Amino acid sequence: MDCLFCKIAAGEIPSKKVYEDEQVYAFYDIDPQAPVHVLLIPKAHITSAADITPENSAVVAHIFEVAARLAKELGLDDGFRIVSNCGDIAGQTVKHLHFHLMGGRPFTWPAG
Ligand code: AMP
Ligand code: ZN
Repeated sequence: MDCLFCKIAAGEIPSKKVYEDEQVYAFYDIDPQAPVHVLLIPKAHITSAADITPENSAVVAHIFEVAARLAKELGLDDGFRIVSNCGDIAGQTVKHLHFHLMGGRPFTWPAG
């Protein structure tokens, strides 16, 4: 499959790795929108949050456990934001499920 994040998870395209285990890969966003901006992805391809099912949802819980750990390790003690854009209308540019973990600055709400 011609998927950028599948290739990054497989090490076929270089990235700045933050964390990796059997199910999850985390790496720095190439165009950071905050002082800390990490992407967390399942290694197995899921297209978007709209494609989470009872069969594949366990990895999502795992991603959130990893995100909480990384937030501590990266010093985001004041808080952070986790975002997943789903579909073109929400600005999803890479069609492989990913969670943006961002911190190190204040955020406004609602997000644009
Ligand atoms: P989204 O727009 O929510 O689909 O998020 C995709 C994110 O992937 C954007 O924040 C991009 O900056 C980021 N991105 C695109 N290509 C790469 C890459 N090769 N390495 C790291 N991050 C990337
Ligand atoms: Zn993929």
